[in-house]
Amino acid sequence: MPIRAIARCKHVVAVFTLAASFAAPARAQKCIVRPAQIKLGETLRISCPAKFNSAKVNDRSTKLYPQSDGRSFGLLPISVKDKPGSFTLIISSEDGAAQNLPIVIRKTIFPSQNVKLAPEIEGLHSTPEEMALLKTFKENISDSRSWQDPLAAPLSGCMTSPFGVKRLHNGKPTGEYHGGVDQRTPDGEPIRAVAAGTITFAKQFNVLGNAVGIDHGQGLESMYLHMSRLAIAPGESVPRGGILGYAGSTGRSTGPHLHWVLYVNGVNVNPAQWIKLQPCSRASKTR
Ligand SMILES: [Zn+2]
Repeated sequence: MPIRAIARCKHVVAVFTLAASFAAPARAQKCIVRPAQIKLGETLRISCPAKFNSAKVNDRSTKLYPQSDGRSFGLLPISVKDKPGSFTLIISSEDGAAQNLPIVIRKTIFPSQNVKLAPEIEGLHSTPEEMALLKTFKENISDSRSWQDPLAAPLSGCMTSPFGVKRLHNGKPTGEYHGGVDQRTPDGEPIRAVAAGTITFAKQFNVLGNAVGIDHGQGLESMYLHMSRLAIAPGESVPRGGILGYAGSTGRSTGPHLHWVLYVNGVNVNPAQWIKLQPCSRASKTR
């Protein structure tokens, strides 16, 4: 192609792009948040024009990251312990522009659930080193995104205990809620990564048993507990569905099951918002 023709083509493309951006609907300039009405333990998904780089509701904020579609995107968790009500999501950009969006945090009822534990199991406690490792895991998340929708279930078993239930141990309230979901599984079933990511830890803990933590990037992490055996090491990359280890009953557990957790910016969120999980018909048989 002669040089003049290339130059003309480029010119035409430039004019077309300009026209397209003028014709783009006003919607493209706006931030979108989903869901606008959210339950405790769920995650807000915020999509904005590229210049917006942070979002905040009450005293919790998150970064928005540039995405391949030319917009910026981020996840903001609503904790089980947050207050229901009407709030304003404030989204900011480097040049000082801001967009305010209304969100409603709905009242969410979580049932109570008693777990019977043998004294030797109830007596297990985390060491300060284990607590420090988990804190570091939750606080350090990669800025590069490895995860994509939809997430994959880590195994196919039904759910014996949902997220958010208030936990009692041997009839005594623990003051804690169930920070993940439990799925029923035979001993030795492969446990798979819900999304691609980097293994932060794969080790034995007193309470968590053999456990794996994955950094999926841009706010998202996952953790898998009580495995009989680990099949992966820290620092390794894992694809979506990659095998992390095998189901078991190590740590504070009364029988083979998988307890797994999703963290968004270090806050436990409800995996059922991300993956459809079938409850077991007899939900009383929980661990
Ligand atoms: Zn559990």
